[in-house]
Amino acid sequence: MEKHATAIRVSGLRKSYKNVPVLTGVEFEVARGSIFALLGSNGAGKTTIIRILSTLLPPDEGAAEVNGFDVRADAAQVRGSISLTGQFAAVDEILTGRENMVMIGRLRRVDNPGRVADELLGRFGLAEAAGRRVATYSGGMRRRLDIAMSLIGDPPVIFLDEPTTGLDPEGRIEVWQVIQKLAHSGTTILLTTQYLDEAEKLADRIAILHDGTIIVSGTLAELRELLPPATVEYVERQPTLEEIFLAIVGQR
Ligand code: ADP
Repeated sequence: MEKHATAIRVSGLRKSYKNVPVLTGVEFEVARGSIFALLGSNGAGKTTIIRILSTLLPPDEGAAEVNGFDVRADAAQVRGSISLTGQFAAVDEILTGRENMVMIGRLRRVDNPGRVADELLGRFGLAEAAGRRVATYSGGMRRRLDIAMSLIGDPPVIFLDEPTTGLDPEGRIEVWQVIQKLAHSGTTILLTTQYLDEAEKLADRIAILHDGTIIVSGTLAELRELLPPATVEYVERQPTLEEIFLAIVGQR
């Protein structure tokens, strides 16, 4: 497949539900092989953007490209370039972890689904649990299995919609480690989150979605430059992403 330096390109994106505008001109780009965090409060429109990028929902206006393909004109190629995972874990509880993986491998017609399953289960620390029913897994293990399943067939771009919502702290750390490993292997990751520490920990670039648009975006260091460091008795303290977020959102 042809490689594009920009994995995701969104411009002038608008979407309303009935007469309620949710996206009012969203622009951003995600470089290939990077982790991009779309940060916003509940209801900001993060899932709407993911649904448009994964061709599940048509935009009202604007353009969106994934892996060099237009979401409207080349929907089938976009679908062939992505995987989507997140809050609604698609795993079958009755089956074992390995059976889930092999089933998806067969559906996606990969060569040797058993070998692909074992390789991914090992990569995500699920080799020992592979023969157990998913019903016995912890929340973090299920989410890791869900991410492993989404990687069958090696999609270049993956969307993680609130990958750690509902997990306990231990489960969140497990999932973070999986996401970091993925990015190191060259996959482009767009994740949505309402957790500032998640964006701070994982993302190469962060965009804050508020009132229908991206109000700021950049690296954490760039976002920090938007606020002066707090000075306490000659010791400079860098603002946290939470302080930046609240200051910027609060100004509006
Ligand atoms: P987020 O993922 O950031 O929480 P969403 O994209 O899910 O936000 O939703 C953005 C806004 O659009 C919310 O106010 C939500 O209630 C509304 N919304 C989402 N889906 C629909 C729908 N199918 N019909 C009407 N309103 C919707």
